[in-house]
Order: sequence, then C-alpha cells, then structure tokens
Amino acid sequence: MLASSFAREARRAGVDTDHLAPIGSLRRFAPDIGDVSLLAVAPSNRHEHVLDALAQLPIVSGTAARTTGAITVDTGRGRVTVHVAPPHHAGSALVWHTGSRAHIALLQARARRFSLLFDAACLTPSGDTGCASEEEFYARLELPFIPPELREGAGEVAAGERGDLPDLITERHIRGDLHIHSMWSDGRDTIEDMVLASRQLGYEYIAITDHSQSASSSRALSVDDVHRQREEVAALRARHTGIQILHGVEVDIMRDGSLDFDDDLLRGFDIVLASLHDHGGHDSAGLTARYVRAIRHPLVNIITHPANRSPALSDGYALDFDRLFKEAAATGTAMEIDGAPGHLDMDGALARRAAAAGVTLVVDSDCHRADALARQMRFGVGTARRGWIEPTQVLNTRGVADIRAFVAAKRACYPEPS
Ligand SMILES: [Zn+2]
Ligand SMILES: [Zn+2]
Repeated sequence: MLASSFAREARRAGVDTDHLAPIGSLRRFAPDIGDVSLLAVAPSNRHEHVLDALAQLPIVSGTAARTTGAITVDTGRGRVTVHVAPPHHAGSALVWHTGSRAHIALLQARARRFSLLFDAACLTPSGDTGCASEEEFYARLELPFIPPELREGAGEVAAGERGDLPDLITERHIRGDLHIHSMWSDGRDTIEDMVLASRQLGYEYIAITDHSQSASSSRALSVDDVHRQREEVAALRARHTGIQILHGVEVDIMRDGSLDFDDDLLRGFDIVLASLHDHGGHDSAGLTARYVRAIRHPLVNIITHPANRSPALSDGYALDFDRLFKEAAATGTAMEIDGAPGHLDMDGALARRAAAAGVTLVVDSDCHRADALARQMRFGVGTARRGWIEPTQVLNTRGVADIRAFVAAKRACYPEPS
C-alpha cells in the first residue's frame, strides 16, 4: 500500500512529526480510493521543515504542488498529498481531511447551531484554541466520536445525536475465515501454508473453499480432486490441532440456477459457498432467479460476493436484492462481505440493507495467497464497518460449533433422501 510505505519511509528518514496517518477516502475504507493523502501533525514553526523533508524522501520523484499547509508529490506508484496541522488543531484537521463532503456539510450545519464555524480544517469562533483530538472536536458539537467508516452523510450525525451509533465490528471479533483458496484451484499456496498463516493470525478455524469443476478460473477441482483434497485435509487436521480446518467449496451457480457439483458430493463438505461468476448474458430477473434457486438449495450456506462487483471495473449486477435478502433470511443462508480488493462485495450500503433484512453475514478474505490473508480480512472488516455492521450480525464472529450448527440447521430442514 502506497500510504503505508510512504509513512514508513518518512519515519525511517526521521521526518519530525507527532503523527502521520492516512486521511480521506483511504481512512474511510471507501472503495473509490482516489488520491492517497496523509495528515502530518507538527508544531507550526516546523511545518516548512517537515514539507522540505517529505519532498526529499527517496520514494519521491518530484513535487507537483506545494503550499504552506500541504505538499503533493509524485512517486513511482502514484501521487501522495500530505497536509500539515499544528497539534492544537490536529483533531479538527483530521475530521476535515477525512471527509466525506456530505459528512462535513452536516457538521458545518451543526457547528452553526453552536455559533461555531467549521472551515479550512479549523473549528473556530474568533480566538478559539482548536481541537487537539477528534473526540474533542465531536464533543464540542455535542456528538460522540463517529468512526471514519460511517462518515458518509448516511444518518451517522443524527444517530450520534440520539446516542444510537452502532457497536461496529472490528478485526478482533473475527474468529475464523470461511473463504480461502489453495493450489488445488487458483490459489498460489498449499492448504498447509494457508493453515499456518491463519494460525498466526489467531484464527480458531478456517474453511478451505476451492473452485468447482466448471469455474472459469484457471484451475478448479474435479470430482476426483475433491476426494483427494479431503484426504489431505484429514492429514492436516492430525498435524495441526490448534486450528479447526473445515473442508468447504466455492461451487459455481450454473446458468439454470443448479450447482456445479451434485448433491451427494456437496453433502460431503463441511460448508458450501455458492457463487455466480458468470452472468451468462442474463438480465437482472434471470440472474435473480438463478440466485434464488441456489439460496433455496439445502446444501448452500453462503452466497459469496453477491453483486459480483469490482470497484475499479464494474458496479456489479443490478439484482432484486430485496428479494434475495428475504430468501436468504428465510432459508438460513448467509451472504458475504468479500474483502478481496477486486470485490469488496457486498459494499457497505448493500451489507447494511442485508443486515436490516435479517440476513446473517460473513466477512471473508477470499484469499488466494497466505501473505494477503490479514490484509484482505482488514478490507472485509472495513467494508462491513461502512455498512454499520455489528459483530452479532456476522457468523464468523462465533465459534466453530456455531458454524457447524448453522450448516446443520439448514440441512435439517430438508432431510436426506432415503
Ligand atoms: Zn468467487
Ligand atoms: Zn473465492
């Protein structure tokens, strides 16, 4: 990540700041991350010096713009803007530069009610001394601290006023990752690599969920592979007793809404994720119908990246989400917030609608390499927080017995054929 490597270089070079951290859309986990911007906090008489030092970092190839309060520099990996603020204004500057515009507009309106002016990173009546922390800033407006992910002008100020802000999920609440790929399909690492990395993250359980036979990914599981993979998982369970390994699958939803593996094979998995990777030329009604059939399938536990969106490329399918959420809630089927940077799906707004409809959510990494497990889960949790999601709404904040019970409950509604 450019922001963190820039901050690391600045620290290594000894740039003299009290604080140097991401602001803007990056801090809000907004998927349309445009510019990378950071806020540096330092006494006013050192601002010149800090900006000079930043301009000379090895990562910097040139200065695009500079004022007394900010510098924009080019690096080989993109443009970075750093704003500087004095410590006694750090709180108001952080709020100002974190945005969003809609959130700032609400705060400005509220400030006027207290005969204050919130402008150009300062909250001031004349002669005011500023706000050193964000907590202090919000308190001045008689609001609790509003987490950055909520600052979208989507009701957060009114909720804060009512004392009704959500108790947001954090990474610490996540007890396992239910969507992980290995070399058996298009992952880069072995199952064992993924197990070891997951143990290091402190997870109690993971599900290995490679792609089914017809998936359009470069590699996928054949029916034979499924049996051989199950043996490998059994052997790994014996070797790694500190973590529970669920044998799962990410099965494709076919063009008629059926699944890419037959029921006998699917029943052998501990958990089944279903996904629609290929729109097959269907319109919204056709895609919705395919999903509904999959959601009603007794062996399907989680619908992965439901909109099939990609932040940089497409908004995803225009589905009848109200219908899907109703079906998912009624059948005990979870829907996913997928933390892969190419998905971030569901996005915050959609996840919030799903939770309001009573759908159980999961937050997963959909990871294809061991060294990205933590980062992608962080993106997933950040996206969930944008959706006002609380830990109680998320399946994988619970223990493995609850995961198994969730699967068993849906299967129990549809007894096995005799
Ligand atoms: Zn997928
Ligand atoms: Zn996947």
